[in-house]
Amino acid sequence: MTTSGKTVSFKELGFSNTRDMFAKAMKGGYAVPAYNFNNMEQLQAIITACVRSRSPVILQVSKGAREYANATLLRYMGLGAIQMMNELGNPVPVALHLDHGDSFELAQSCIDSGFSSVMIDGSALPYEENIALTKKVVDYAHPRDVTVEGELGVLAGIEEHVSSEKSHYTDPRDVEDFVKRTGVDSLAISIGTSHGAFKFKVKPGESVPPLRFDILEEVERRIPGFPIVLHGASSVLTPYIEMINKYGGRMEGAVGVPEEQLRRAAKSAVCKINIDSDGRLVMTAIIRKVFAEKPGEFDPRKYLGPAREELVKMYISKNETVLGSAGKA
Ligand SMILES: [Zn+2]
Repeated sequence: MTTSGKTVSFKELGFSNTRDMFAKAMKGGYAVPAYNFNNMEQLQAIITACVRSRSPVILQVSKGAREYANATLLRYMGLGAIQMMNELGNPVPVALHLDHGDSFELAQSCIDSGFSSVMIDGSALPYEENIALTKKVVDYAHPRDVTVEGELGVLAGIEEHVSSEKSHYTDPRDVEDFVKRTGVDSLAISIGTSHGAFKFKVKPGESVPPLRFDILEEVERRIPGFPIVLHGASSVLTPYIEMINKYGGRMEGAVGVPEEQLRRAAKSAVCKINIDSDGRLVMTAIIRKVFAEKPGEFDPRKYLGPAREELVKMYISKNETVLGSAGKA
């Protein structure tokens, strides 16, 4: 429900659900990027990068983002992005997606206010409760043509409200039953990706543990052609970590998922790859650099602007070289 009490369909707002996006991604051997935003500069960068590289995109709003920026404002920002693209005459398909919805009420409120896709994350619940909650959301979403992402298995790491000490890999034996009984449109699985910027504990010189492609392959074998989602898939790009550390930050030991592994995943049944931390790191690195080099600067446009420019470059590079989504809009 919006604050005015009226419900609105995503179709009136110009968003797309993920059904077509994933069908094309599955066939084309690429993944659709899912980028989180909390503020104007991030949103501008995501839209600019995806329009320039002609990529479909999933704009993700987390519960934390709704608390930070205000749910109504975020929704209108998404709407503003669509209208901006239309006025420029070069729109790409955009889904507005709830990231890590943790209750039926939250998912319902997003669906009623114009989201085209929602995630309901019952992965921390006992299996049967996860099914019941997910199915309840699907039953509300599908008559409104909104697509739903569920999750099986638990990722390690910290992402706002979601945190876990240890990961529990998805058990491929559960996926068929889960998908059939819930009716979800896509499934997030745990194969070794992790939330946050400190994904793995590795000693200098050691490489990070590879993703469990054996689990992914077994999932694909059991539910052929079904869209799979990877969360926690930032690569924690070294140049930005080095820039942060150089300009007064302290992020030693930050490490992510190597881009080659994500590229391999994107060619499989993985149709959606979530990237949040890399965007945060880019902004932080550039802002630190500006502050260090120009201590007298106090106009937010002079440090947020360069951060936005660098974000555009990073997102284009992800679309072109990691997800393979460039040119697919
Ligand atoms: Zn996540």
